[in-house]
Amino acid sequence: MDTKTQDRLDGLLQDFDELRDRQVGYPCNQDFDYSALLPFLSYCPNNVGDPFHDSNFLSNTHDMEREVINRFADMMHLPQDDAWGYVTSGGTEGNMYGLYMGREMFPDGVVYFSQDTHYSVVKILRVLKARNIMIKSQDNGEIDYDDLYETVRINRDVPAVFIANIGTTMKGAIDDVSRFREIADDLAITNYYIHADAALSGMILPFVDDPQPFGFDAGFDSVAVSGHKMIGSPMPCGVALTRRDYVGRVARSIEYVGVLDTTLTGSRNAITPMMLWYAFQQQGPDGFRRIVNDCIEVAEYAVTRFNDSGIPAWRNKNSVTVVFPKPSPEIIRKWQLAPYEDIAHLITMPHVTREKIDLVIDDCLRDLQASSKSGE
Ligand SMILES: *Cc1c(COP(=O)(O)O)cnc(C)c1O
Repeated sequence: MDTKTQDRLDGLLQDFDELRDRQVGYPCNQDFDYSALLPFLSYCPNNVGDPFHDSNFLSNTHDMEREVINRFADMMHLPQDDAWGYVTSGGTEGNMYGLYMGREMFPDGVVYFSQDTHYSVVKILRVLKARNIMIKSQDNGEIDYDDLYETVRINRDVPAVFIANIGTTMKGAIDDVSRFREIADDLAITNYYIHADAALSGMILPFVDDPQPFGFDAGFDSVAVSGHKMIGSPMPCGVALTRRDYVGRVARSIEYVGVLDTTLTGSRNAITPMMLWYAFQQQGPDGFRRIVNDCIEVAEYAVTRFNDSGIPAWRNKNSVTVVFPKPSPEIIRKWQLAPYEDIAHLITMPHVTREKIDLVIDDCLRDLQASSKSGE
């Protein structure tokens, strides 16, 4: 390698290394070690096609991918025999898959989602040209059930496709899927579909003692969970999970044009399924339970410390997202916090320690003192 190329790489590596220590605003677990998988980067594996069917491309990790899907089926209370899914490129693709299923099931349905729903959903609805209505949110980020009820009531002549946020991006709020079902039942709507966007909290709720309703037994028809968030991976990835018989309908319609093609993308990453599989191997049955509950304890620590310092911070139940008043741009930049209107959040992923929280709060306090002085 020439020295210019080497310098570029060295510089970038140093940047990543420094940034990692001050990354507290985005929900990416940086606490992982996939070095055992490095030798596989010398090959060209490809998971093209349905992981539950044979592929002509033999260098694949479909078997590991199926094991990952089965793990998620267990976590989401879906019998493995009824489950179908695949490892996606991230939360957006999982949402797209779920909404695609919902639209194929109910082509004339209306999609309902809240103001706090992830931006990917609005984009996907445009791509799918699906009729949709945005519902108001409550202050804590949860959907406003009264507004939802009224809106669905007015449109009760067509099927309903609900987006349930299982952990909103900004406030970590969890929509109550049991209320969605009550609303549909109350309005005698039998044709409805629930897609759960569980990007972050899909890896939290299965491991806490008192979760909000979630899973296929609670009414999910499909769910998207991120892989690079709570589990952590150097490449973005996620999981799309739904019922096998729904996919059968879509697969048939595509078989008509000559292929059994059930995934959204063609060529697919074969390394990310391996990483998720490896993470589950490493953590064992109780690993994620311990990790998740540690994260929640640190989140609670952060809320208490903020409040003791006179800064009004809060979090939703079972959430690792700590919301507080937006600090100065310098602090947002320094700690890579996520700002939105007058709030910001930090997310207590495993690499965000109590010591780091203390440093963030010290900075916020200095900031407040400086601004009150300059205001005098
Ligand atoms: C992060 C996130 C997504 C999607 O994430 P990508 O992996 O960036 O596509 C979707 N929904 C929610 C609620 C998220 O927090």
